[in-house]
Amino acid sequence: MKTISAELAYFLRGRARQNLKLLLYYCGFLLLLILCYATLFRYLMLHLEGREFSFVAGVYWAITVMTTLGFGDITFHTDIGYVFATVVTISGVVFLLIILPFGLISLFLAPWIEQRLRYRPSFSLPPETSGHVLVFGVNPTARVLFRNLASRKIPFVVITDDYEESLRLEEEEDVRVVCGSPTDVKMLQKVRVDSARYIFANLSDTENTNLCLTIRSLCKTPIAAVVDEPEHIDLVRLSGADKAVPLQRIIGRYLGIRSTTCGALAHVIDSFGPLQIAEVPVHGSPFVDMTLEQARIRQQTGMTVIGIWDRGTFTVPERDTLLSPSSLVVLAGTHDQLRVMEELIGEQETDDLVFILGHGRIGCAAARFLDRKPVPYVLIDQEENPHCESHIAVLGDATNRHLLKKAGIDQAKGLIVTTNDDSTNIFLTLSSRNSNPHMRIVARANTEENVAQLYAAGADFVVSNASVGASILMNILESKESIFLTEGVTIFRRPVPTSVVGMSVNESRLRPRTGCSIVALEVEGEEPLAPSPETILRAGCSLVLIGSPEQEKKFGELFGPGGEGW
Ligand code: ADP
Ligand code: ZN
Repeated sequence: MKTISAELAYFLRGRARQNLKLLLYYCGFLLLLILCYATLFRYLMLHLEGREFSFVAGVYWAITVMTTLGFGDITFHTDIGYVFATVVTISGVVFLLIILPFGLISLFLAPWIEQRLRYRPSFSLPPETSGHVLVFGVNPTARVLFRNLASRKIPFVVITDDYEESLRLEEEEDVRVVCGSPTDVKMLQKVRVDSARYIFANLSDTENTNLCLTIRSLCKTPIAAVVDEPEHIDLVRLSGADKAVPLQRIIGRYLGIRSTTCGALAHVIDSFGPLQIAEVPVHGSPFVDMTLEQARIRQQTGMTVIGIWDRGTFTVPERDTLLSPSSLVVLAGTHDQLRVMEELIGEQETDDLVFILGHGRIGCAAARFLDRKPVPYVLIDQEENPHCESHIAVLGDATNRHLLKKAGIDQAKGLIVTTNDDSTNIFLTLSSRNSNPHMRIVARANTEENVAQLYAAGADFVVSNASVGASILMNILESKESIFLTEGVTIFRRPVPTSVVGMSVNESRLRPRTGCSIVALEVEGEEPLAPSPETILRAGCSLVLIGSPEQEKKFGELFGPGGEGW
């Protein structure tokens, strides 16, 4: 059954899909032709021979003549009638018996057979292969990871035992695949696990455990395993994984961090060495409607503003960037500077209340995060979570407005929308934004395509499972200190280039030349410093920079990859 549906799915993809449309148009044309012939047949019969036939009889006659069956039960007895019947027969032969089968063969059957004959899955990699990344398991996170790996030109190979999947990946997504069972020792040897750079185990927890144990019996290549259930982390590590990555828990935490509301403490979202990265909502702070220059954040707190979030867009700010009430300021600084910032913003509101819609693994992780803050919350789910004993959820459908109202959603300051259905998430976001314009709404997108719709529905922050997952895995591969702001923005550290030593930040023109902004200046053993335009770049210091991967590359090209020029 699975094979048949997989084969049928072929006709709904790419070129075959377009051809299917063409076929439908052609069938429409044939239908129209039959109806015209049936009408003409009735008209000629009535006016030439005085015989009356029903429309159904007309259709029946047209089809039997066009298909050259010609039962002979209904025939013309006049010359014009014979001519008409001949025209119908010839057009039937051409349109039904020649063009239709020819079209079916050349547009569908031949390409399908050709693809089958052309595609021979690989079962091994050349013996000299090394430095490659092996990915086990294909899901939306893996697909984003493939894109990221390809864009950084890191060689990678996907292992799958699903012929259809390997065909699709190789033919349509240009991904290199080896077909085989992930836990077969011989197969693992054939894909050169021992000389691989990294292994991503992205199967179920039980399969990952098996895979890690098998790989460990062969070699020491580092493995990062994605863990579905946080309670399996220890087991996955025990089986030999160097990193166990509980993606759902991390995503839940991201949602939790971003759901608490205005006037709140600065929220630390990540750290980079001694630097804390925090997000502060502008709404409820003294900075509303000021430009960045007027807000004087660096002068008052010593922290650097490294970015501004506004409904889904992250920008690296300029002096005249306006701080609107809906935006969030992303800051970098030390723990003490963060405390100064908190004092500046004022006390945390005591009546914070967050609603969590969906108590799956992600909703549960968000609740756990809020437990620790502590921020009061209400969980709503239509089913009990069998893996959670710590939380009690209100049982019911979250799309039921009455239920939400009864549970007190009108008092909520924040909302986490995390069901496993994106349409439900979009609906819940839209209706909540409609009834409460100031609520802080954070939503999870199960597929990449729905990120934009969730923002359009009014979400303040959307976390896409796949892109967060892929970014975390990329960071592990590149041994970057964990930092995730958004796709396409990275924080990295570089020594001060020798060519700009002794210049001020302004004179070095690092930002106009590379696009990267300086987050902080670090001297070993000292507190990181938020640089002002006049700060002198001294030798031996490190720069913490923020920019896109392209800007990071440009920095490397301009100032050399370490050694010379540094
Ligand atoms: P994850 O574990 O990745 O968070 P799950 O599929 O386990 O994802 O969790 C999604 C949760 O959302 C499920 O517990 C499901 O019952 C819940 N859910 C889905 N639709 C609704 C809805 N309309 N109302 C309430 N809860 C819902
Ligand atoms: Zn729970």
